Amino acid sequence: MDSCMTVEREIDKVLTKFGGLHDHSVDTIEDFITSLENIRKELAEGPADGEVQVTQSLVMNQALHRVQEATSRMGQEHKDLHSTVSKVGKTIDRNFVSEFSAVFTEGSFENDETQMLLNEIICEHFLRQGKLDIAEALNEEADLNLDPVQMEPFLELHRILGALKRRNLQPALSWTAANRDSLQNQGSNLEFKLHRLQFIELVSQTTQNQTQVLQYAKNFAKFADKHAREVQVLMGSLLYMKQGIHTSPYAFLLDPIYWEEICDVFTRDACALMGMSVESPLSVSIRAGCRALPPLLNIRQVMQQRQVSGVWTSKDELPVEIDLGNEHRYHSIFACPILRQQSTEHNPPVRLICGHVISRDALHKLASGNKYVSQFGVKTLVKCPYCPVEQNPDDAKVVMF
Ligand SMILES: [Zn+2]
Repeated sequence: MDSCMTVEREIDKVLTKFGGLHDHSVDTIEDFITSLENIRKELAEGPADGEVQVTQSLVMNQALHRVQEATSRMGQEHKDLHSTVSKVGKTIDRNFVSEFSAVFTEGSFENDETQMLLNEIICEHFLRQGKLDIAEALNEEADLNLDPVQMEPFLELHRILGALKRRNLQPALSWTAANRDSLQNQGSNLEFKLHRLQFIELVSQTTQNQTQVLQYAKNFAKFADKHAREVQVLMGSLLYMKQGIHTSPYAFLLDPIYWEEICDVFTRDACALMGMSVESPLSVSIRAGCRALPPLLNIRQVMQQRQVSGVWTSKDELPVEIDLGNEHRYHSIFACPILRQQSTEHNPPVRLICGHVISRDALHKLASGNKYVSQFGVKTLVKCPYCPVEQNPDDAKVVMF
């Protein structure tokens, strides 16, 4: 942030200088034009074949001289401006790192498959934003061969959201009606919230017919069980319909926050229904990258200073834990307390019979040195590293989060 402020200060300097120069030049040029026009007028008023008088030629010479002087001065001032402009460039170079090769994996996007995936993610991002023309151009130029059927849900989502932002609930209501069963299965309250907003809209219009509004209220019948309290409140607001609910105890229903909320609820539920993430994977990756880059660059620098660059050799693994904040936490993770590694699909956490949890690799390592021959053949016995309970490693159970 500090870096941005420093650059902004330099830009402000350029703008002030440029503004000053502009105003000054315009004034000077205006002055010259007026004085030259005066001279021309004076000359034109004189006799057609008369000679130019000495004083007139003197005035003309002086004027020309002044114009030349001012032009070269303005040229100089303009040149000075360049140094201020180039200072901005230097400040950007000084305050921002442009060399990231130390912290990314070379060749990540070099093969055709990853290139294609990257292009698909970019294309999906544009589709999510409703920028159909850009997405189509990318689809064509990068040979993505995206099926128009794949694009349709994004466009519909965007169209409905656009309508919601214009306070038009109809497209969203038809969509929820068409997907009612699936929405109910995922425990969505979207349809109720849409009807509630529509109802409040009707109640807030004093010109509306009360009977019609009551008629609309029938839509709440199917929500009566789950939202009884909220439906009661809505019915109460009907009493103030004639005098206008904005001056009634129900004025809170008109809070614009409900309209903001409905856009979020709609996006979340519709994305869940279509099996998509709520946010574009591209924006999430970029945001995460912006957070992770500064600490990674710092670590790289420290490593270089202390000449321990060999510590971080595998670039698909982070040298330290990077906290991306709560909004980027999607699932629980388990780090093995023995190997100090995050569990993976191939190395899941396992629960020992005593209740302690370690990773499967750690268990194998413990087991490998503890084989003994008994009368029943080769047996393995593992001692839990946290409590002295001895057990057969085969009794450990994989833990799923
Ligand atoms: Zn134990």
